[in-house]
Order: sequence, then C-alpha cells, then structure tokens
Amino acid sequence: MRVHILGSGTSSGVPVIGCHCKVCMSKDPKNHRTRASIALVHDGQTLLVDTAPEMRLQVLRAGIDAIDGLLYTHMHADHTAGFDDLRGFYFKSRTALNAYLLPEYAPDLKARFRYAFEDTGYYGVTPQVTLHSIPDAPFTIAGFPIDPVRLVHGNVPSCGFRVGRFAYVTDFKNFPTAKIAEWRGKIDVMVASGIHFGTHPTHSVIPETLQLFDDLGVKRGIISHLAHDVDYVEHAALLPDFAEYSFDGMTIDLEAFVS
Ligand SMILES: [Zn+2]
Ligand SMILES: [Zn+2]
Ligand SMILES: [Zn+2]
Repeated sequence: MRVHILGSGTSSGVPVIGCHCKVCMSKDPKNHRTRASIALVHDGQTLLVDTAPEMRLQVLRAGIDAIDGLLYTHMHADHTAGFDDLRGFYFKSRTALNAYLLPEYAPDLKARFRYAFEDTGYYGVTPQVTLHSIPDAPFTIAGFPIDPVRLVHGNVPSCGFRVGRFAYVTDFKNFPTAKIAEWRGKIDVMVASGIHFGTHPTHSVIPETLQLFDDLGVKRGIISHLAHDVDYVEHAALLPDFAEYSFDGMTIDLEAFVS
C-alpha cells in the first residue's frame, strides 16, 4: 500500500496570505504546504481522504487519475472546499463516488454543496457522490479495511482511522483512552496532525502528538497539518528519532493490511 501525503498544511496553508515570515518566504518546497489530505493506493484501488481546497492540484501532482472511495474526516472548509473538483473523476468514471462521513455530517455536506444534491436546473455536470455513514465498528471502503476512531476537535467530531499497520488522524485535541489501549503496538506508521510547538484550543500541538505516538507505540510518527511557524529543516532537530514532519508530495510504502 502506498500513502500519498497530498497536503501537509494547516487551514491557512503555507505560505500564509500576506505573511513574510521566514517559513512563508522559504524557497524550500518542503515549507510550501497545501491543506491536509492523503490518498491510499493499493491493488489498483485509491481511497481519497478529504477534498482540500487544492485537491485538483494535489491529485495531478500525485498522478492519481481515478478514485474508488472517499472518506471525510470532518466538514471544516480546509477538508471539504475542493469538493467541486470531484467532477473531474466523474467525467472519466461516469459512476457516482461512494463517500463516507460521520452520520451527523451528511446534512452539513449537503448544505455546503447544495447544487450537487438538488436539482437546480444547472445544465453542466455536478459532483456525483453517494453518501454513506461511517459506522462505529470496522468497515470496508473500496477494499480498504477501515478501523475508525471518533475524535474530539473543539466543538465538532473528527474521524481518524487505522488500515492494517497504518493510521491517519487529523484535526483532534484528545484521543480516546480506550482506543489507545486497543491500538497500542498495532501501528508501524502513523500520520497525525500537530500544528506547531505552541498551544491550540482545538488541535493537538506537536508535543501532544509526539506523546500520542509514544502512547500508541508507533514506530514511525509523521506530523501533518503544519503551520508556518514550523521550518522543515530548521526544526527537524526538535523531534525525536522516530518522528518527522510530513511534506506535500511525500509517499510512504507499507505492507498492506497486515495486522
Ligand atoms: Zn484542518
Ligand atoms: Zn508566515
Ligand atoms: Zn478542522
């Protein structure tokens, strides 16, 4: 299984509009971060996680021509705003895409992109998606066995998941204790959000994310959803050996679905 880090940035992206700080002015492409999203590819199947504002550019760069399933972590704009570009896949596939989201989020997605779910009289092609609820128990999307975890992200929930010995959790403040016990020792590679080294009311910050990696016994911890106060090179020394920052275009290859 190949994991594509499509976007590694926090909600503003990096560079931040109007900011001239060292990271925003950096020429290092690893300091240029589009909004957080990943794709999993295995056995000819592709699972997209979220539709970031730059989704079209992200999949073009990753060489992803088609997707077989979509999972939404939550409905914040930095994870949904690229929704309209799902049309691009439909032009080729001509089949509706199965999109999974927490049950309470279906009305939210339909309200954000009403034109895709109602007949508005529009003549052109709109995104064609069939919505499915993420259950509380393991389930399968496009052949990927998903073990979901419900996370608290300020006043909204977010959905993280484990696929075999890989896990992706983004946009959360606290990780449920029961799931730590359940997942401990089962994860080789984990991509998790960690905004920066400061504080944040609704997001796990880097020291908290490192603690989570440690609690779960993760072998390789990769930090995503990064803000402009993290320099890929300069701040690498602040991480322990088993952890690293993600960057746009990063890929990780793992043995698929081994548990
Ligand atoms: Zn986010
Ligand atoms: Zn900046
Ligand atoms: Zn969020």
